[in-house]
Amino acid sequence: MKKIIITLDGYSSCGKSTLARQLANELNYVFIDSGAMYRAITLYFLRQHVDWSDAKKIHKALGEISLDFQYNEATGQSDMFLNDENVEALIRDMLVSERVSEISALKEVREFGVAQQQQMGKMKGIVMDGRDIGTTVFPEAELKIFVTADPAVRVERRFKELFQKNPNITIKEVQDNLEMRDYIDSNREFSPLRKAKDAVELDNSNMTKEEQLSIALEWAREKMA
Ligand code: C5P
Repeated sequence: MKKIIITLDGYSSCGKSTLARQLANELNYVFIDSGAMYRAITLYFLRQHVDWSDAKKIHKALGEISLDFQYNEATGQSDMFLNDENVEALIRDMLVSERVSEISALKEVREFGVAQQQQMGKMKGIVMDGRDIGTTVFPEAELKIFVTADPAVRVERRFKELFQKNPNITIKEVQDNLEMRDYIDSNREFSPLRKAKDAVELDNSNMTKEEQLSIALEWAREKMA
């Protein structure tokens, strides 16, 4: 079977990362959560109080950032490392979620992210999820999946996930954040969130994880044959 590139794009909290991770496990492929990279960049910008209205300061800050995924034996998943620090938990914080779309829309940040992601796909055998993976990062990918789910289902899923870590969080906060990110991600100038022309759509609103995996696996195996 030949090695391919699989991309999963879609709105926030559609379950893209869950499906991408499952697919990578089944196929023995590398899974890359590109959102984690933009979240780590955002964390750095917030910590260092980078003035992102100034292109020179953005360039300087990006030059100080090294991103790396490292396997965590305890969880069986890869954690995001920012300059050798494990920031996997920190980047999921609401403070990062509130700013990540604004920072991800910056031209310099996009160029930085896309270049690193393209490098990771050189050997193929990769499943990457994000917003612009099938359109900008790997326009030649063999399988592109555009994942969708009902907005109410997405809010509910995200709320359950965040509530475990922060019982003070409200549904309204989660809903506002998802709507804000989806709006900025879809309307930005560089690499806006779009369904690639040759992407297949997967609406998982009423699907179990097993059902969505079995559909995506079938698509993948067709392309790998
Ligand atoms: O996937 P996740 O929701 O963690 O992504 C966080 C944010 O990172 C998105 O809302 C978007 O602003 C940005 N992002 C992006 N391009 C990607 C992946 C994520 O702009 N390929």
